[in-house]
Amino acid sequence: MRHGATLMGYYTNVIECYQLSCKLSYMKNMKINRINNLPMNKDTYALRTVVVNLIREAKNGGANLPWIGVRIGTQTSKHKNVLGCAVMKADKLWITLDAIHLGADTLRNIVFHEIAHAVYGTEHDESCPLMQSALNTILNKEDCLKHLLKYQQ
Ligand SMILES: [Zn+2]
Repeated sequence: MRHGATLMGYYTNVIECYQLSCKLSYMKNMKINRINNLPMNKDTYALRTVVVNLIREAKNGGANLPWIGVRIGTQTSKHKNVLGCAVMKADKLWITLDAIHLGADTLRNIVFHEIAHAVYGTEHDESCPLMQSALNTILNKEDCLKHLLKYQQ
């Protein structure tokens, strides 16, 4: 935990996904206490490209998206079930290695879910297969896009 000296503020708009509840989190720049960023080396860059390509897929499908800050990491010990995090309406998201290893369709669900938080400020909605707080339904490419676009203003 890196609370204390580096604590810059208590953000109320950080949302974590695929846990039972959304708790608040501490954040400074692109650091978040639920996920340890991997060093940005060649391997991490390749993993990030997988996520960036899914963001591009959303754009190509009609989502109007700004530049989004993407980091890849591993869960901290107290947050083993977190697959992704985002800062609401701040265009920043984190995706875990575990999420990437779940395969392309599952990863798309996770990335599009985080995009909705990070860009549109969408809250969890247990009646929506994309924005439910726990990963239950794996949507196909078309449905994933359809649900993301419904949150676009
Ligand atoms: Zn979420």
